[in-house]
This record gives sequence, structure tokens and C-alpha cells, in this order.
Amino acid sequence: MNDEEPPSISAPTDEPAVKAPQGPFCKFCGKPVLPRAVICVSCGQQIKPLEPPEPSGFSCVVMIVLGALSLFIPCIGLVVGISAMLMEGKKTDGAILIVISIASVLLMAAMSGAFGGAQSPYMQ
Ligand SMILES: [Zn+2]
Repeated sequence: MNDEEPPSISAPTDEPAVKAPQGPFCKFCGKPVLPRAVICVSCGQQIKPLEPPEPSGFSCVVMIVLGALSLFIPCIGLVVGISAMLMEGKKTDGAILIVISIASVLLMAAMSGAFGGAQSPYMQ
């Protein structure tokens, strides 16, 4: 609850709380940082919460990873695809994932059939 203090006025350190026109200062080491900096380059502390990544680029990377993953684990692709279809603006992604998952299931079934039946001889 006390995280959102005003940055300049209530500084408990000895440093003078001067309002600098250049930009914010690191609240850990007091060095000036870039206005959009997330991590202080002087002390390495995180000074701002990480901004969420761009939705489009993030979705693209996630789709590639999930698509590759669903080739091996179709259940994950199905679940993620269905949940993605329930999200706004992700219906196409979810549909693609579901299609990939079903296709990989059919592919596995066809492969196991092509290999002369994967049934164990001990199963009767
Ligand atoms: Zn710092």
C-alpha cells in the first residue's frame, strides 16, 4: 500500500530533493536515469514495473512456441487453443492451435498405424 509515494518530496535520504528537469532519479542509488528506464544502469535495481510487451509480437512468439509444442503434446495445444478462442481477439489463434493439435493427433494415429500397428503383443 505504501509503494506509491511521491518520488521527489518524501525522500528519506540526506540528498536534497531537488526537482530535476532532466528526468527521474533512481530511488536506490540516486543517480539520474532515463525517463523510460526500467532498470537503473548504475546499481541494477528495478525502478519501474516491467511494461507488458506488445500484444501482437508477444502473440506471434507464443503462437510459434505453442504450435511447436502442440505438435508433440496435442493435449496442451487443444487446451490452450480452446482457452485462446474464449479470449477477445484471439479466436483465430485458438482455432489455428486446435487445428494443429487435431492434425498432429491424426498424424500420430496414422504413423502408429503405418508402423504395422503399435499394439503390444502382450495386450490381448
Ligand atoms: Zn540506481
